Amino acid sequence: MDDPFVTCPYNACHRVSRSRIQAHLVKCQKNYPKLDICPYNATHRMSSDEMKQHVKICTNRSSFFLKEKPLVTGAISTPKRILQKEYLPETDPNHEMWDD
Ligand SMILES: [Zn+2]
Ligand SMILES: [Zn+2]
Repeated sequence: MDDPFVTCPYNACHRVSRSRIQAHLVKCQKNYPKLDICPYNATHRMSSDEMKQHVKICTNRSSFFLKEKPLVTGAISTPKRILQKEYLPETDPNHEMWDD
C-alpha cells in the first residue's frame, strides 16, 4: 500500500521513487511551466488554483499546526492534566478558531 513511487506533478508519465522526487523536481521544473510549491511540503506542486485548495487539506499541514499549538495555549503548561480534569471544549477560548 505504501507506494515508494510518486507521480511527478509536472508530468504524470514520470514515476519517481519517493527518495528521489525532490532531486527530480529540481530538474523537471526547468522543463515545464512554473507550479506553486506547497508551503508544507516542497514536493507538493500544482497550479495556484489547485494550491489554494491543497493548502487547506495538505497531509503535511497537521504537523505544522501541532508545532504551533503550544504557542496558542502558551499559558497552559500542563495541557494533559487540564484535559483530564476540567477541559471543556465549549469554554475553550481557542475552540471557536477551529470551528469553521
Ligand atoms: Zn518529472
Ligand atoms: Zn502539501
